[in-house]
Amino acid sequence: MTTTGHGAVGHHQGGCLCGGVRYEVRGPLRDVIACHCSQCRRTSGHFVAAAAASTADLHFICDVSLTWYASSAAAERGFCSTCGSNLFWRPTTPEAHTTSIMAGTLDVPTGLRVIRHIFVADKSDYYDIDDGLPQEAGW
Ligand SMILES: [Zn+2]
Ligand SMILES: [Zn+2]
Repeated sequence: MTTTGHGAVGHHQGGCLCGGVRYEVRGPLRDVIACHCSQCRRTSGHFVAAAAASTADLHFICDVSLTWYASSAAAERGFCSTCGSNLFWRPTTPEAHTTSIMAGTLDVPTGLRVIRHIFVADKSDYYDIDDGLPQEAGW
């Protein structure tokens, strides 16, 4: 887990638009990383801004409509099959213990900040990244 930035500790909850998925994070949240890769572009409709937590700290209050899509050989994305909200990304490799959480699905206040941009070489062409934060061509 990246430790750049301060992150946030405490009792965070979040969920999808329709309420079919509600979750609670019982542990620290990493600050937000914006990913501009082609998979994040398509699944989000723009780009993904995600916090992250230990998978063991992620508990579901309701997950009736949570569906996982294998977006690559090494990762899957969790979304709500009722309202379409984009919620989670997690590696499927056995040594992975972190789940990325789409930051916009967290209830406010999150206490988080965007700390950097990744895969900027793959971003679409209709916007600029001009917030002064670090940018990485890849991860
Ligand atoms: Zn939903
Ligand atoms: Zn991405």
